[in-house]
Amino acid sequence: MPELQAVVDEIAEEMRATPLRGEVATYIPELARVDPRYFAIAIVDARGEIFTGGDADVPFSIQSISKVFTLMLALGKIGDRLWQRVGREPSGSRFNSIVQLEAERGIPRNPFINAGAIAVTDAILAGHQPRETLGEILRFMQFLAADDGVYIDHKVAASEQRTGFRNAALANYMRSFGVIDNPVEYTLGVYYHHCAIAMSCRQLAMAGRVLAHFDSEPSTIRPVLTAERARRINALMLTCGHYDGSGEFAYRVGLTGKSGVGGGILAIAPGKASIAVWSPGLDVSGNSRLGQLALERLSKRMEWSIFGA
Ligand code: GLN
Repeated sequence: MPELQAVVDEIAEEMRATPLRGEVATYIPELARVDPRYFAIAIVDARGEIFTGGDADVPFSIQSISKVFTLMLALGKIGDRLWQRVGREPSGSRFNSIVQLEAERGIPRNPFINAGAIAVTDAILAGHQPRETLGEILRFMQFLAADDGVYIDHKVAASEQRTGFRNAALANYMRSFGVIDNPVEYTLGVYYHHCAIAMSCRQLAMAGRVLAHFDSEPSTIRPVLTAERARRINALMLTCGHYDGSGEFAYRVGLTGKSGVGGGILAIAPGKASIAVWSPGLDVSGNSRLGQLALERLSKRMEWSIFGA
């Protein structure tokens, strides 16, 4: 097996030299301003050691990667009752699609498409003020990353709030079926702000340790997630984490993963590694183009695919 830091250096160098970067997201105006030349990778291995390459300490908008963590919080709060209002099947549709909601009576297919994540946020919000819920989510991320520097980029949140007509449509539509309980503007406000959390690859890879469930996991984070829940969230990441690109990601990379339109991906090799990559250019499904390529090479070279070497 090659040495991990050597592979990380090699991949960072290869990505620097790759011209095919995809398009940065423009529907959230603030994200359109990000330089597409960034590339970053960070890995925490089973012993808790961290390996980095490229711009691993530059914070970026984690966007939909936050949905993995809000799912943890919602399951922690209401347990399996969450599945009465969100499904667990891949959608095969775009992340912001509304088409399935009518036929399926307002129940989103899974917690990672926008509709599903909005329903999850609504479940966390129940009985609280938006500000309290947002503080809870942010503190959770800081705790998991072991870094108080994780912050919410209010400019990104405001930018999305001004232009989030589709998400408003999804939320209102679900509310009409009784799937959303809180005032739509409260739920959306919390949703936009947790999507606007900014983290570096180093911080994100640290936060992903809880899903990798290492034997060496620090006693501080072990109680956050049982092995069974980690396994199940990983299953959802594999089947739904890249929207209509999930099959392709499983085929090429063979790790569980969650992407965000900021260009980040959190990928997990259970028991082996927590990996964060970032490159802002996206493919047609809204997944980082170079991020996927980097993970494909990493998983192949380290023989980390969950389907075998
Ligand atoms: N905040 C973004 C949205 O709601 C998240 C989408 C994503 O990262 N795929 O559109």
